[in-house]
Amino acid sequence: MSETYLDVGATTRVKPEYKNIIDTYLYDDFYNPSANYTPAFDISKSVADSRFEIAKYIGCKSEEIYFTSGASESNSWAFQGWLRKHPRGVIITSAIEHHSIMAMVEDEYFEDKIWVIPVNSEGVVNPTTIDEAIKKAKDAGRDGILVAIQYANNEIGTIQDIAEISRVAHAGGAKLFTDATQAFSCLDMNDCISKNNIDMLSMSGHKICCPKGIGFLYVKEDVDIPPLIYGSQNFGKRGGTENVAGIITLGLAFHNFRLFGTEIDDVQEQRNILFNAINGITPVKMNGSKEMRLPNNLNVTFQERIIGLTVTSVLSALGVYISVGSACTAQSSEPSHVLKAIGLTDDEASRTIRITLPKNLTNNELNDAIGKFKIALELLLKNKT
Ligand code: PMP
Repeated sequence: MSETYLDVGATTRVKPEYKNIIDTYLYDDFYNPSANYTPAFDISKSVADSRFEIAKYIGCKSEEIYFTSGASESNSWAFQGWLRKHPRGVIITSAIEHHSIMAMVEDEYFEDKIWVIPVNSEGVVNPTTIDEAIKKAKDAGRDGILVAIQYANNEIGTIQDIAEISRVAHAGGAKLFTDATQAFSCLDMNDCISKNNIDMLSMSGHKICCPKGIGFLYVKEDVDIPPLIYGSQNFGKRGGTENVAGIITLGLAFHNFRLFGTEIDDVQEQRNILFNAINGITPVKMNGSKEMRLPNNLNVTFQERIIGLTVTSVLSALGVYISVGSACTAQSSEPSHVLKAIGLTDDEASRTIRITLPKNLTNNELNDAIGKFKIALELLLKNKT
C-alpha cells in the first residue's frame, strides 16, 4: 500500500543528502568539540560554521545563537530565564501558543507572571491588545515586560504580524520573543531578526528536514537571561556536549535557505486543491486566517457529524497520515486549546482535522490522497449516527 505523509507540521523526514554527513559525525569525526586535539578542533570549527550560517540567514551575530535540544527547551529557557532575571516582570503571551508554553501558563508557579491575551476568530493577535496589556503591567508597577507571540501557529497556520507586534512591544518598553518553529519550513525568514527587531527567537530542526533533538534559541546581545541548563558550552549559556551531527545539518539547512530560499508556491496550490476536494465530498469550514496563513496548512471542521480522530484512523488504515491538532496532543481526547481560543465549541473541535503538506508532494500522490479522503469520508458519512 502506498503511504502519503501529510503531517509535516508534526515533523519532517531528514533530507537523504544528510545521511552521509550524519554518519561522518557519528562514526568518524565523533570527537567532543571541546577536546584538545586536532580533529576535535576541526569539529569545533564546523560547529562554529553552522552557527555562522544560521546567524547570517536570520540576520544576527553568531554569538547570539545558542544550540538547544529544540523549541520546547528554547521556549522554556526564554520564559524561565526572563522571569528569573526580572522577578517583578511579566510575560504577555497569546492563548494559542505551543504546549511547551501553555504548560508553563498552567503551572501555578508562574501564576500572575505570565499573562495570556486572546486572539480573534482567525487566531490573529491584535497589537492593540498587547499595547493595553503592557500599559496594565506598567500601571501595576511591573518591571521587565516580555511580549511572547508565536510567528505562526502549528495547528491553524495563522501567521502573526510580528513586525507590528514588535513595534508596539518596543514602543511600550518591552522586549519581543517569538516561537518561529513553524515559520522556517515555508516562509522567507531571511533577515527576520533585523527586519522585525526580534529580541529572542526559538525553532526546532526537525520541522526543516534535520534530525529531532536540535534547535536553537537566538538571544540578542543586550538581553541577559541566565541559563536553563548550566555548563561551559554555548558561551557558558547552555551546557551539554553539543549534538554535533544535528548542528551540522542545521547549518546546512540554513545555508540552503540562504542560497535557494524557500519554495512555497506549489504547496499552496496543492493545499487549495485538497481543500476544494474535501469540501466537495462533505462541507468543511477552514479554520485560521485565509490570507495570513502558512501555505502548507489546512485545518478544517466538518459540518456533518464526522469525528476528526475517526477520520485520522480510517485514513491511517488507507496509508494517509494526517493529524487532528498538533502532534503533541494528537492522541489526547481534550479539545485543542487553539480551536477553543478561536471560538470553536468542544463539538466543533472534535470534528476538526489538520493537514500539513510536504513540499515535494507529487500531483499523483495528491490525487491518490484525495481518492482516499473520498473513500474514508463517504464511509463515515454512510455510518454516521
Ligand atoms: N513550538 C511550535 C510552534 C511547534 O510547532 C513545536 C513542535 N510541534 C514546538 C514549539 C516544540 O518543538 P520540539 O517538540 O521540537 O521541542
